[in-house]
Amino acid sequence: MEDSEKREPQKLEFQAEVKQLLDIVINSLYTDREIFVRELVSNASDSLEKFRLLSTMEGDYRDKDLPLGVTIEADDKEHKLVISDTGVGMTREELVQNLGTIAHSGSREFLRKLAEGDRKDSQLIGQFGVGFYSVFMVASLVSVQSQSYLPEAEGFEWSSEGTGSYTINQADGLKRGTRIIISLKEDAWEFAGADRIKAIIKQYSNFVPFDISVNGDKVNTVQAIWTRSRNEIKEEEYNEFYKFLSNAFTDPIYRLHLSSDAPIQMNALFFIPGDNMERFGIGRLDPGVNLYSRKVLIQPGSREILPDYMRFVKGVVDSEDLPLNISRETVQNSRLIKKMSRFLTRRLISFLEDEASRDAEKYREFWDKFSVFIKEGCVSDHDNREQLAKLLRFESSSTGAGELASLSEYIGRMKESQKAIYYINGPSREAIEAGPYLEAFRSRDIEVIYLMEPVDDFVMTSLIEYQGKKLISADHVNLDLPAKEEGSEEKAGDGGPEGLSSGETGQLTAWMKEVLGDAVSEVRESQRLVNSPAVIVNPDHMLTTSMQRVLQAANNEMGGIGPKVLEINTKSDVIIKLARLKASGGDEELLASCVEQIADNAFLAAGIPGNRHRMVDRVYRIMGKALEG
Ligand code: ADP
Ligand code: MG
Repeated sequence: MEDSEKREPQKLEFQAEVKQLLDIVINSLYTDREIFVRELVSNASDSLEKFRLLSTMEGDYRDKDLPLGVTIEADDKEHKLVISDTGVGMTREELVQNLGTIAHSGSREFLRKLAEGDRKDSQLIGQFGVGFYSVFMVASLVSVQSQSYLPEAEGFEWSSEGTGSYTINQADGLKRGTRIIISLKEDAWEFAGADRIKAIIKQYSNFVPFDISVNGDKVNTVQAIWTRSRNEIKEEEYNEFYKFLSNAFTDPIYRLHLSSDAPIQMNALFFIPGDNMERFGIGRLDPGVNLYSRKVLIQPGSREILPDYMRFVKGVVDSEDLPLNISRETVQNSRLIKKMSRFLTRRLISFLEDEASRDAEKYREFWDKFSVFIKEGCVSDHDNREQLAKLLRFESSSTGAGELASLSEYIGRMKESQKAIYYINGPSREAIEAGPYLEAFRSRDIEVIYLMEPVDDFVMTSLIEYQGKKLISADHVNLDLPAKEEGSEEKAGDGGPEGLSSGETGQLTAWMKEVLGDAVSEVRESQRLVNSPAVIVNPDHMLTTSMQRVLQAANNEMGGIGPKVLEINTKSDVIIKLARLKASGGDEELLASCVEQIADNAFLAAGIPGNRHRMVDRVYRIMGKALEG
């Protein structure tokens, strides 16, 4: 860009998403308006942290000796509020990029959520990372004067009324940093009161690690809470720090504060939030743990310090053993950080395990919100799989509806003759209990875990086993169940204990396979059924039927569901009659229709719907024949 061009003031349009956001901010957010102070101060603090880190490295920066801090001037005569920082500042391009667009991927869902307008509105703004725009809840005009730390950069002023567009002008004579000048709307004049602003800073920004002054008075208590000793810190202080750290309004569910000296010196303070923001469908959480060295932030939201599935954890890790001038690449390759990460991950998992046994009800609250992350860990974290499995909770045939049990509790209830842990996936408890897969287990009084999320089967097959017991899907071909107990209530099918002879069974299964063709890989006699005439079982050793469904839905090119075996209950009334009518030369077409319908019913119970129109036609044809009688 030519110098002369740059000096021309320019009027630019906001990105469409920003226009939508501003429209909501200006026209429908009226609660918790004071959070705009927190958002602007947190941006100032971020940019000061960035500068502090840069200044530990080599290089030439503008106004090197300017002290780091935030200065606020509240002018209740002019109804103006000015918030200045001496951080990294922004270039012209950065002003356009950062204050004119939303980079976040989930912005559409976020806007929809925001427009729905429950009371969380204004709070969501900061958590989603569009905090700057909250200033338009109170401002009729906002000017942002900024001077980048880069020695070559020139100063610019960005200004907007929040409606559709903004202007950018060159601004000379600025010192390094950013100065935000807010002209307050009449209904927001209260925010030009110094006492009001001081109170807001005390409430939300007390932990900002730089001096904040309001009309000349220093208001915050600068301190790195994580370096203090645990018994000196009050519950209140911890919670306040958490809220500051994660822009949250509610207290965390859990807190873990640890320090170690050997082999690595470190202090870590972790929080589990009161809610899982990913549940609201506003996209994937960014990692929430900041990495410090000697109280200097070296990496906000570090991707290296905890595994990805722990992105719901908020907190701080500070180690004196980390060099201050560590670069992003070095963090990624640092053996020290890998060691710290391994240690901290284990500590967090065992912490959760302890909490679960200490207070099951509270753990249940955690589980309801964060189970997806633990399951993700079971699939992705080979090293900690066994430990993570201890955190899992499921409903089962032995729990009441909505009650949960752990795998260890399951093992505690296992019968001596039982070799494996069994589970079955289905859309709901009712569907699972109405289906054919539990029959074999009920008749042997064996507990079955109910899985109701598609991801659950991936968890079970990743674990492979738990405390030496294999995890097996109840729809697998080979169950190898213990024999039924003597005297256990033998609820045989309607055909009575005799059922079909092996000769009859052989003829029937061969003919059924002929009728069904490639729809099934095999038709055979079932050892597992008690009431149902037939069931679909799965010969695949790697993928359960539920997993095949998920993969098929995710990627149509994967082809269909894998081969399936149809097992028939040779003591079932329907199967016996079918065999005998076929043998005595009954209506071939009708009987073939019955075979197809039996298979379709079994597929349905396995969660694999067939062709509905064909099925309906067929049922009418069978009814037609039955009614001829
Ligand atoms: P977030 O802080 O979550 O990124 P914001 O909407 O609060 O979202 O801010 C958008 C971006 O604008 C920031 O990421 C930062 O790059 C830039 N920014 C805002 N305020 C300042 C400031 N005082 N100094 C430097 N950059 C800033
Ligand atoms: Mg921000």
